[in-house]
Amino acid sequence: MNTFELDSTYVADTYARFPVEIVSGKGSVVVDSEGKEYIDMATGIAVNTFGLCDDKWVDAIEKQLKAFQHTSNLYYSSPCARLAQLMCEKTGMKKVFFSNSGAEANECAIKTARKYAADKHGEDHYNIITLTGSFHGRTVTTLAATGQDVFHTKFKPLTEGFIYCETNNCEQLIKLADENKVAAIMLEPLQGEGGVNPLNKDFVDTIAKLAAERDIIIIADEVQCGNGRTGKLYGYMNFDIVPDIISTAKGLGGGLPIGATMFGEKTCSVLGKSDHGSTFGGNPVVCAGALNIFERLDDKCLEGVLERSRYIFEALTGAPGIKSVTGLGLMIGVETERDAGEVIADCMKNGVMPIRAKHKVRLLPALNIPMEQLETAVEVIKEAANSNR
Ligand SMILES: *Cc1c(COP(=O)(O)O)cnc(C)c1O
Repeated sequence: MNTFELDSTYVADTYARFPVEIVSGKGSVVVDSEGKEYIDMATGIAVNTFGLCDDKWVDAIEKQLKAFQHTSNLYYSSPCARLAQLMCEKTGMKKVFFSNSGAEANECAIKTARKYAADKHGEDHYNIITLTGSFHGRTVTTLAATGQDVFHTKFKPLTEGFIYCETNNCEQLIKLADENKVAAIMLEPLQGEGGVNPLNKDFVDTIAKLAAERDIIIIADEVQCGNGRTGKLYGYMNFDIVPDIISTAKGLGGGLPIGATMFGEKTCSVLGKSDHGSTFGGNPVVCAGALNIFERLDDKCLEGVLERSRYIFEALTGAPGIKSVTGLGLMIGVETERDAGEVIADCMKNGVMPIRAKHKVRLLPALNIPMEQLETAVEVIKEAANSNR
């Protein structure tokens, strides 16, 4: 059997895959089993921060891999400690818990916010307000946190204590905070899976104000929009808000699985010994790679993100067949007159690989995608949006 047949026979049927088998890649070019090349505008859903097989990242990983690949969290290891130090120094957060995925990073954030509120305000202070259109993960609790009904119906009962506020509705947010005992407000500074929906400034200001007045924990889910993706180190830095907890994952590892939950002043001593844990969390190989990625997310890199972003916005906004372009940095949603699926299929045919977010074409290229490749990709996307209308 070939890979397609093996996969559809033996791999659980949870993914609608493109009929493409990836065999290799370098930088922003992905190669399939037929030898066809694609310009990567998806980076494995905002994971391959500096593209495929980036030399410096591979070197960092190889070096650690040859020293030792894993030790449990019963012992110390330097990559994990150094990564935590750098993340704290660059954000002003105080401590980090490492896990393996975005969902786990959010689970840890939720546990911490609930323990903080229970310790400080009483055990009935467990409610967490999340936003419509949000996405926080696939575990039973992070599904409950996800503010989209479609994710809730099949797996009830979900974890209790999540309340949904319409995104950007300040009045409703205040009402929900008045009527419930609220431990936390959880938000994606830029919603990804929900359709690359920006939050408006007033709404974020209202969250910050409510949180300060009522000692409500702010959780920023930076799993997708963090780690340089929006042109700032973290997405929240585009707003006037300081989270008490930041969860992140995807792009942090540059291609290997990692989750991280960062705690600020208020929350850094909430979790104590044996309150939380992970066998693989803080894995030295993964952390050595992440440390290399994080060290390189400097001002110059972020300027490059903004420059590429401006190019995409200018080229696509108002182009024939394109209704809107939303997002920040290199996390962009393109709303097309044609069905997004058809536009993506045409792009793939023509050697460009974007993905989708709800009814939009979503662009998540490597932060260092060469301008020439970006220009080619944008032309192909424009053409696809404008053909067969
Ligand atoms: C992808 C994503 C998650 C879930 O991450 P996994 O690594 O798939 O568990 C959570 N929150 C946001 C905002 C995401 O984009």
